[in-house]
Amino acid sequence: MKVRIIGCHGSVEPGYRTTCYQVNERFFIDAGSISSGLTPQAQIDVSDVFLTHPHLDHIKDLCFLIENTASSTRAPLFLHSTEAILNDIHDHIFNDVIWPDFSKVVLDDVNQKPILQFAPLPKSLETELSGVKISAFPVNHPGNAIGYLLDDGEVQILFTGDTGPCEKIWQIANSAPRLKAIFTEISLPSRMDGLAQVSGHYRLAQLLEDLRHLKSTSVPVYIAHFKAQFMRELLDEFHQRATPQLKLLHESDEFVFT
Ligand SMILES: [Zn+2]
Ligand SMILES: [Zn+2]
Repeated sequence: MKVRIIGCHGSVEPGYRTTCYQVNERFFIDAGSISSGLTPQAQIDVSDVFLTHPHLDHIKDLCFLIENTASSTRAPLFLHSTEAILNDIHDHIFNDVIWPDFSKVVLDDVNQKPILQFAPLPKSLETELSGVKISAFPVNHPGNAIGYLLDDGEVQILFTGDTGPCEKIWQIANSAPRLKAIFTEISLPSRMDGLAQVSGHYRLAQLLEDLRHLKSTSVPVYIAHFKAQFMRELLDEFHQRATPQLKLLHESDEFVFT
């Protein structure tokens, strides 16, 4: 399975883009930088986005993606997530106030399909796309938030999305026999325990503690979502305390897991 990092930070500044991962050049997980990080042609080709939660840093670029590429020749853009998460995005963003409701816009006279389509996951929270089984699970983050386990029959990859300490993540990781990578997050320096708890984010100290629940010590754990305003402190802490299992993500990183 291929994973390309389009954006991997928790805030926006020149040089820092927010969460967006491309999988197998076929679909995306989160859309924080799906227009600011992709060429115009690549934006036209986006057809499926799986969203972890409705926070702005994970969805904001959907607005520009759909507007940049709205045309009668564009294939519909499918947004996948739980019904609750999609309803939040529909009600609060694509509501004809903050941004047009593109799920009502039909540009293709022949097919008569809206260019934006909300595609709720079934109750089982499992679906399949182009040979990849995608299973969602709830994580510990304010509002509605989920992570995803991807399985192409050969390898499994776990994306936690934004989360604070969450036992479920380690249970799923431990029961995934072909797990090749975990993509998770650290947002704040370890000294900011109070804020991390209220905002539902991992700190390095807590993640190191929770990693003791992970049976495998060889599966790489990739870290995203550093907040730019604490970058110096986060980097210093990471370089001093992180174990070799933890790897810091960078925009434009590409991985092939076999
Ligand atoms: Zn976030
Ligand atoms: Zn969030």
